[in-house]
Amino acid sequence: RCDVKSFLKRNWLLIATVLSVVLGIGLGVLVREYASLSNLDKQYFGFPGELLMRMLKLVILPLIISSMITGVAALDSEVSGRIGLRAVVYYFSTTIIAVVLGILLVTTIKPGVSQSADNIDREGTTPNVTTYKTQRKEIIVSNPSPPMNTTTFPPLTTIFTTVAQNLTKDYKIVGAYSDGINVLGLIVFCVAFGLVIGKMGERGRILLEFFDALNEATMRLVQIIMCYMPVGILFLIAAKIIEVEDWDIFRKMGLYMVTVLSGLAIHSIIFLPLIYFAFVRKNPYTFALGMAQALVTALMISSSSATLPVTFRCAEENNRIDKRITRFVLPVGATINMDGTALYEAVAAIFIAQLNDFALDVGQIVTISITATVASIGAAGVPNAGLVTMVIVLTAVGLPASDVTLIVAVDWLIDRFRTMINVLGDAFGAGIVQKLSKRELERMDLTSDVDVANP
Ligand code: ASP
Repeated sequence: RCDVKSFLKRNWLLIATVLSVVLGIGLGVLVREYASLSNLDKQYFGFPGELLMRMLKLVILPLIISSMITGVAALDSEVSGRIGLRAVVYYFSTTIIAVVLGILLVTTIKPGVSQSADNIDREGTTPNVTTYKTQRKEIIVSNPSPPMNTTTFPPLTTIFTTVAQNLTKDYKIVGAYSDGINVLGLIVFCVAFGLVIGKMGERGRILLEFFDALNEATMRLVQIIMCYMPVGILFLIAAKIIEVEDWDIFRKMGLYMVTVLSGLAIHSIIFLPLIYFAFVRKNPYTFALGMAQALVTALMISSSSATLPVTFRCAEENNRIDKRITRFVLPVGATINMDGTALYEAVAAIFIAQLNDFALDVGQIVTISITATVASIGAAGVPNAGLVTMVIVLTAVGLPASDVTLIVAVDWLIDRFRTMINVLGDAFGAGIVQKLSKRELERMDLTSDVDVANP
């Protein structure tokens, strides 16, 4: 009995969060069925959830600043360069694997090609274009969302944005979706600042200690916010269930959803664990279980950035990843490493091509895989960012950018799952980078011991 008690004690927050998801869904369905809420009532109802989102977003800024600066300054520039390189190689290769997986699935399952047209095609006659068009029209007509703001980006914008002109005045990557913080710009600034502090000697130490204390204070704040999490999540999911207007769209888009979700499942249950095991030689599923609280949070709030505080806690406390690694690689990962988003972008672009009866040649498929990777890197870690950067992929192969409207209606659901995989990819990455950097970290431990002993 003692075991059960200690298990509950250790995992109470996770258990409460999962319970709150179930209760939230139940509450949402009940209210939807039996109460007719006015718009104002709905706002009140969504308030506890909105409060959680606001609190999480509030700590992102001090968290990223303090963790990146201390993370970089604690390593010498050669070591941080090597660790950074390992992280980037991991990010790129896993993202490409996700994209290729998505392309294989979508070209095999063909969710956008209507069954009857396929049959006719196999019999050797011309494909029944009207069937495609009718299906396409049906989806457009049943899509209640307003057309999106599909601003196209000059190709250099992403790179340009990494140099923030001002930390508070936002230079946004993606219009209204970047939620006010130019995270990529912030990270580049913090890396530069951290490197400089690391080289300043004794006077740099004062700043390092300041940011270290800031980090500790922020993480304590995160601990308090996490106690509120079950309540916030309960209302967040209930309010979403009340808000969704057209559930039928999921039936119509069934095969497309199955394609994306099975890709995400294969990537997260088979590929990422295999890669982790190949490098770390430890059970990847135990590791993933350690991240459970962060994964549920990502699933509920659709934002890698807002999940970051929870990702930190899980990685450091449950999976015992060295703080010098997490502080350095997790904020970068949450911003540029998005396997789930990349997979989704590739699938969605080819799905749209299939709906348009638009045959893609090999060159265009390669273009899709490259642009899907770029688009996932450019997407901010906020809800629906991937949907907006889809424009890059669509325009690159000559598909109408406005066709993102075809997939808008189901995006709120898919976004949750791809965000979860984005976060899982970041966590596995931190585990792998730690393993690969073991020798450098140990060497640093030795030298800092000498420093402490002989100040
Ligand atoms: N919501 C995702 C994230 O925060 C980005 C996306 O829309 O794909 O990771």
